[in-house]
Amino acid sequence: MSRKFFVGGNWKCNGTKEEVKKIVTILNEADVPSEDVVEVVVSPPFVFLSFVKSLLRSDFSVAAQNCWVRRGGAFTGEISAEMLVNLGIPWVILGHSERRLLLGESNEFVGDKVAYALSQGLKVIACVGETLEQRESGSTTDIVAAQTKAIADQISDWRNIVLAYEPVWAIGTGKVATPSQAQEVHTGLRKWLQTNVGAEIAASTRIIYGGSVNGANCKELAAQPDVDGFLVGGASLKPEFVDIIKSAA
Ligand code: PGA
Repeated sequence: MSRKFFVGGNWKCNGTKEEVKKIVTILNEADVPSEDVVEVVVSPPFVFLSFVKSLLRSDFSVAAQNCWVRRGGAFTGEISAEMLVNLGIPWVILGHSERRLLLGESNEFVGDKVAYALSQGLKVIACVGETLEQRESGSTTDIVAAQTKAIADQISDWRNIVLAYEPVWAIGTGKVATPSQAQEVHTGLRKWLQTNVGAEIAASTRIIYGGSVNGANCKELAAQPDVDGFLVGGASLKPEFVDIIKSAA
């Protein structure tokens, strides 16, 4: 089954209105493979979502970087899935390691969030990944399986999910996973899906890689059979994001 290449740009907590405008201009002027070949989604901070959506070319879309676990209400500082839907924001990133580690989001909480966001009609980029300590102790497979299981336990429809494998030790460190390290975990995740969720879902779910992806290392990673795209942090704020999109072709 063919899986359309997916490139997400996670802008994290960065940017001013002027800087955001500059990045969008670069994207809008870029000559990239068509929508049939690559799906491009950029994820600005909440406050810039509508601004970016209004300026961005129509073949790219936008994602929020988080949303609340249930229906909105008395949750100061949170943004609900319903609000994103109301603004026409199609995607949300959930379970990013920065939120898991810095804000204490557990596997179960992330699973609940993914299920709720899907139930409201959002598409989800769900992130999993091990820390350096976990990798060095040989528990990478168990860690990413447990993170994926907490999501799988809560959902049945996988059509609107992209699974992002992002080893924590590779995020923002310049220490990218080697193509074979990425392929090994991606193939493991696909096997896990095959055994625990179903063969069809395993074959059709996109598993993307994130962690120090840049214009220079993307081609080799993209050539791996189970790497179906990228979630890019730092380099998504730079012109080289266009080169990463081009690695789809
Ligand atoms: P990075 O971040 O590309 O800056 O390593 C990736 C991510 O956190 O999604």
